[in-house]
Amino acid sequence: MAEADLIDTGISTLFLHLNNNLLTYRRVFVIFLLSEARSNRAISDRGVMTGISVDIRGFTKEYGNMTVVDGVSLNVAAGSFVTLLGPSGSGKSTLLMGVAGFTRPTRGNIFFGDRDVTVLPPRQRNIGMVFQNYALFPHMTVAQNIAFPLIQRGVSKAEIAPEVSKMMRLVGLRGMDDRPVTKLSGGQQQRVALARALVFRPPILLMDEPLGALDKKMREHLQSEIKEIQQVTGTTALFVTHDQDEAMSMSDRIVVLNHGRIEQQGTSAEIYDTPASAFVADFVGEANMLQGSIAESSPQGCLVEIGHNLLVCGKSVPGAVLEKGDTVDLIVRPNRISLGPEREPVPGFIPGEMLSSAYLGESILIRVRLPNDKIITAKLKPEAGQPDTQRVSVTWDYNSSTVFPRRNGASSRGE
Ligand code: ADP
Repeated sequence: MAEADLIDTGISTLFLHLNNNLLTYRRVFVIFLLSEARSNRAISDRGVMTGISVDIRGFTKEYGNMTVVDGVSLNVAAGSFVTLLGPSGSGKSTLLMGVAGFTRPTRGNIFFGDRDVTVLPPRQRNIGMVFQNYALFPHMTVAQNIAFPLIQRGVSKAEIAPEVSKMMRLVGLRGMDDRPVTKLSGGQQQRVALARALVFRPPILLMDEPLGALDKKMREHLQSEIKEIQQVTGTTALFVTHDQDEAMSMSDRIVVLNHGRIEQQGTSAEIYDTPASAFVADFVGEANMLQGSIAESSPQGCLVEIGHNLLVCGKSVPGAVLEKGDTVDLIVRPNRISLGPEREPVPGFIPGEMLSSAYLGESILIRVRLPNDKIITAKLKPEAGQPDTQRVSVTWDYNSSTVFPRRNGASSRGE
């Protein structure tokens, strides 16, 4: 990766230290965002930041005989926030680097709007980038760092100053112009990185695990702030994470990758409520997975034999034709499980032994061992109470669990 390319695309690091001061900026920051949204259209004769679409067509990347991205086609609508979500090694960064121009696909094309950019070098793509581990210029002040991409583009001095101060207000760094970046806290440096990536009004912003090493609270703050800035600026955002909560809280659409292929794409609700595969169901959200075979199947639902003559119920994933004897994965979310007093096992009700129970405030988490030694987790509402005997009966509404045909050799998390 040439330094000139990195500098030219405004790549910067989101530093990874904690910054409690950040929390106090937040309220002021949101007010700025709203006022910026109103004034943004008049700030410069260099034009507003307008997102353009990214169209990835059949992107394939091979290293030797290993295919790390396999024929991915994906359209990121102009101005939208799309997240590539998947486990480590699923090809997210390779795809993002392809969009940036640092990785050339073995096959396939990338369009920005209707322009084919597949062979363009990064510096000609005019994209903003934010990475987890790329430092700001340590010898420069905040304002100098943010101004850098404008100087590179030959913007006049008179125009740079208002652009930089506008961007500093947008990310909540007003008044820190002359502060050396090395004197900033980690969270403040993150904001400088974001400002530097956006100051030249890129139509596309790429972010690769930018919040990767922050603690939970800081992550959550910055998740909503980055999303708000993206909405205010109107840039098209492509974001990479392996964290499903982060993906769900920030994205207009999520693209779930596994082994270099798209498993499913859709809104957070679509991905969570109607997962297209057992992998997605297991990776996105909490899930219990039971393996078994179809004992009975009808358009309304099916009974799955999970060993020990135990029958549980579910509905088959849309599009699947399941027949008696087919091996399947049945997924049920912990909050869909009910526990009752022990009873004779009948189809849909199976016996279990409570192993532990943890009170978490908004829920009670109970681990239950089934007769086939599988341990499942139930998440009960505290007001519903919990069984007072160790031996229980486990059940769920058939509509609350989904049955997927089992793929040969596929493991749930793609590892
Ligand atoms: P993710 O971002 O989802 O963690 P990556 O895109 O970084 O995944 O990597 C996908 C796969 O491609 C991994 O198995 C990784 O080892 C492999 N890979 C990435 N870059 C190279 C490279 N330059 N040479 C060989 N293999 C690579």
